[in-house]
Amino acid sequence: MAKKPSKAAAHEISFWDDVCDYFNHAATFTDHPKDILEMIRECNSIYSFKFPIRANGGFELISAWRVEHSHHKLPTKGGIRYSEFVHEDEVKALAALMTYKCAIVNVPYGGAKGGVKVNPKKYSERELENITRRYTSELIKKNFIGPGTDVPAPDYGTGEREMSWIVDTYQAYNPGQIDSNACVTGKPLAQHGIAGRREATGRGVFFAARECVNVPEDMKKVKLSVGLEGKRVIVQGLGNVGYYSAKFIQEAGGIIVGLCEYEGAIYDSKGLDVDDVVRHRKETGSILNYKKAKNFKNSSEGLEQECDIFVPAALENQIHDGNIAAIKAKIIVEGANGPTTPDAATAFIKRGGIIVPDMYANAGGVTVSYFEWLKNLSHVAFGRMNKRFEENAARNMVDMIERMTGQSITADQRTVIVKGASELELVNSGLEETMVRAYHEIRDIQLANKKITDLRMAAFVCAIDKVAISYKNLGIFP
Ligand code: GLU
Repeated sequence: MAKKPSKAAAHEISFWDDVCDYFNHAATFTDHPKDILEMIRECNSIYSFKFPIRANGGFELISAWRVEHSHHKLPTKGGIRYSEFVHEDEVKALAALMTYKCAIVNVPYGGAKGGVKVNPKKYSERELENITRRYTSELIKKNFIGPGTDVPAPDYGTGEREMSWIVDTYQAYNPGQIDSNACVTGKPLAQHGIAGRREATGRGVFFAARECVNVPEDMKKVKLSVGLEGKRVIVQGLGNVGYYSAKFIQEAGGIIVGLCEYEGAIYDSKGLDVDDVVRHRKETGSILNYKKAKNFKNSSEGLEQECDIFVPAALENQIHDGNIAAIKAKIIVEGANGPTTPDAATAFIKRGGIIVPDMYANAGGVTVSYFEWLKNLSHVAFGRMNKRFEENAARNMVDMIERMTGQSITADQRTVIVKGASELELVNSGLEETMVRAYHEIRDIQLANKKITDLRMAAFVCAIDKVAISYKNLGIFP
């Protein structure tokens, strides 16, 4: 396992080494040859570059990366992170996690990740647009973006707005390319995006948490009742992933007792209303001083309060050997990538906790990105082309059921049956099916081998096996 200074700042810790350590350990539970394992573990292409932009009244040189971790399946896929702390080691680790993540949820991509070393809060919208367009043009020049090559998406610090600038820049360089909308996912709905993509990662985290607490044997081990209903949950991060995770968990009966952001944390054992907290934050500029909730000016104290489930949905290395002893949760569902350091994870598992690992728990985003990509390549929204056919078939079926059973179907029921599923319903059910199936696949791998002590190891084994099969089938060129 990784050795590293416990008090080191997040950006000093080698995330890449951690991922490799996990990989190497998991590899011992497989029987693939050493060279295949090495081929899987290493990054295939690393593009590190700098470009100038005009900003804040002068010039600035921006550092940026795009890492394609694995070409065993093309295109490669993964978000673009805007952060002043991003660096090559982190982008490599995140790209590798994308490879494993895609394999776990059977999304046919290799992993990739991009990084731009900027704090988006320090730039105007115009400057951010320039940064995004220039970054995209650099990727185009080196063939690091394209519907069949490498398809970026949102990540920490980026969203639909940036994805829209990316596709527009790509199209300016590739006029008339029929599939160009598929060069990036996470686009706005009106810009060839897909219903449900914005909520997808958080919805996936919710499904992951739900599957975990629905296993009676596992709940017995952690001494919790079965089901999400009444579970006390703390969520770290109120960005896209954290907000939707908290919202869906709350809607399913979980009690959001704590929320943590960089300005501080709040806690109320009776439960917080997620949307109301977000409204309060918009009005006052902070989550602090929300109704009767207890305030913690030091955000990290928020993580250490009483709860059953902790959902870290901010950045990496938030749970480390400096705070793991104080974390009260029995289950950690990793909404963020790499939020738990290996030492902390080992300690948590040793004391009987369950970690639902990032590479599975936050795979909802890329799963729905895949649906968006398919929609863009097929040039038609889900459910549109066959709507008429489905409606007729459904109408005939309803008539037949009425005739055969002698029972009449109400007008409301008839409308639901005949209308067919909307794009959002199809996306959400596809996502649910994916997350449920993958959870049990990983859990079964863990159960099958007593030496695999946690779900993360099982997830790595699952991913390594699938990528290894691909590499073996591919052979070696030339
Ligand atoms: N950035 C997200 C992730 O880490 C989404 C990637 C994608 O949709 O391609 O999974």
